[in-house]
Formats: sequence, structure tokens, C-alpha cells
Amino acid sequence: MKSYRKELWVETPNRRGYINITPQVEQCLSASGIREGLVLVNAMHITSSVFINDDESGLHHDFEVWLEKLAPEKPHSQYRHNGFEDNADAHMKRQLMGREVVVAITEGRLDFGPWEQIFYGEYDGKRRKRILVKIIGE
Ligand code: ZN
Repeated sequence: MKSYRKELWVETPNRRGYINITPQVEQCLSASGIREGLVLVNAMHITSSVFINDDESGLHHDFEVWLEKLAPEKPHSQYRHNGFEDNADAHMKRQLMGREVVVAITEGRLDFGPWEQIFYGEYDGKRRKRILVKIIGE
């Protein structure tokens, strides 16, 4: 069995944002030489997410509105976590959107359903953060 590991670095200009990381994951798959197996992609931080959904800007706006209803950023004082930090909402948003995805690799390609794309979701950005890509197979 072969294995491949890479850390992708990201930095969003705003506190919250979404990045389609599918091209970077495809580059990792190509570099790995693996044709059949699995790829795991996970956020390495507890205030950001990796998830699969549609690359559609209206939907990303809808995520923002939905997450702000469930875990509003402000007032910061509503959260006990916000003693030394102001990112309690980001921890909760990450719980809702998930930590990682696993995608099947078939004949050297990501074996997606229609419209599936891999996203990094940032909820406490404006700093450099990492995503882990781990591929196993043969
Ligand atoms: Zn925190």
C-alpha cells in the first residue's frame, strides 16, 4: 500500500469565507500516483471545516445566514468561551459544518457524485491555517 501526506496552507482575508480546494486535492492525488484508494481531507484547526457541497455562491451566502442564526458571532459576551478569545461562534460553526471528508479514488480520479466539490470553511480567519490531505491506496 502507498501513502501520501501533505499540508495545504490557507489564509482568508475575512473572518469567515469558503475556498474550493478541489484543485489542490486533485494535485495531491496526481502527485501520490495512487489509482485506487481513499483520500481524507481535514481541517487542522478547531475553528474551520472541510465539507463537500455545491460550488454556488448563493448557497454559500445561505450557509452564512443559517450559521449566524444558529451560532451568532455577536455579542461576544454571550459565550463563556470568550474570556480570552472572541471565537466561540467559530468553534460552533465548525461543529455544524464538520471536520473532514473522505472521498473514494477510482482509476486515479476523485470519485464524486454530481456537483460534489471539496470546500474549506473558515470561521475565524485572517491568519494562516492548515488542511491535512492523506491518501492511501495503490
Ligand atoms: Zn477559541
